[in-house]
Amino acid sequence: MSKPLHDIAQALADGPAVGCPERQEAAAYQTLEIVRCLQTSLDPMRLMELFSQEVGNLIPHQGIRYRNDDLDLEVRLGTQSRHSCSYKLHLGDEPLGKLSFRRNEKFSERETEILERLLCNLLYPLRNALLYQDALQLAQKDPLTGVSNRAALDEMLHRELSHARRRQADCAMLVLDIDHFKAINDRYGHIIGDCALKAIAQQTDLCKRDGDLLFRYGGEEFIVLMRDTDREGALLLAERIRSHIAETPCRCSGAELAMSVSIGVSMLADSDTPESLFARADQALYQAKDNGRNQVCVIDPQA
Ligand code: GH3
Ligand code: MG
Ligand code: MG
Repeated sequence: MSKPLHDIAQALADGPAVGCPERQEAAAYQTLEIVRCLQTSLDPMRLMELFSQEVGNLIPHQGIRYRNDDLDLEVRLGTQSRHSCSYKLHLGDEPLGKLSFRRNEKFSERETEILERLLCNLLYPLRNALLYQDALQLAQKDPLTGVSNRAALDEMLHRELSHARRRQADCAMLVLDIDHFKAINDRYGHIIGDCALKAIAQQTDLCKRDGDLLFRYGGEEFIVLMRDTDREGALLLAERIRSHIAETPCRCSGAELAMSVSIGVSMLADSDTPESLFARADQALYQAKDNGRNQVCVIDPQA
């Protein structure tokens, strides 16, 4: 038969050396349950959900908030009430983020003692989930420029397109290609060429809005995906990126490089697949190159 929760809580608060053996056994069982539960997921969000549920049996709370600055990860569950009990989580020297429990009544000293004991069970599963998350993020990043890579684009493109369709929202794509980039490599060498590529990625990132997504498609070509953006807005952003790059020389190892980019734009149409949306933007890019480079072109769906 299961023990009353207040008995288990008391045993957890007392620690392993004190209290009656039966209570200690039930507390150990409860702890095992938490550990077992936490081993079922490598998703930090799900992990917090599970931990909150399990802890909630002993320490009722209305919400939790977890933040990890290194991975730019934030989890908010339940409601953010008046009182909070916050912990900076560490495993040895390794910081694991900050976790707060929230509710309308104050947490008692005994409750915080229990929380602290239960938190020990979260540390290893959380560290594993964070390592996994880090590996996933790395696999979707271009190591040279630090922006998302082609693998991330393939995944996001499907997601963004179905999102736009569901909400009947606009979606635009820019394909950007550096003009005469081969000449930069030929003249200055590949190390300075790499530095110039990074600078173009940074400048594009600076010009785009927060919600826009930037990817390195390959070589010296980048893609910007824009949610909720109509034709006029997409052309405006493309022009802003183009003129900013044309007016801002890149400084690499003492060399000052004047560069320009050509940009092709396409707008999502009802009949589009990810491939056809890209094909139109790519075709518009060729048009921009043919027209003399350092310019923006758009190809409309029915054209
Ligand atoms: P266009 O104006 O027609 O685009 O001319 P372009 O010279 O930019 O085009 P092209 O496709 O002929 O050359 C692209 C060059 O980009 C060739 C390749 O060496 C260079 N490139 C691709 N990836 C990298 C990279 O990671 N680092 C460096 N340094 N160069 C790269
Ligand atoms: Mg190219
Ligand atoms: Mg080029």
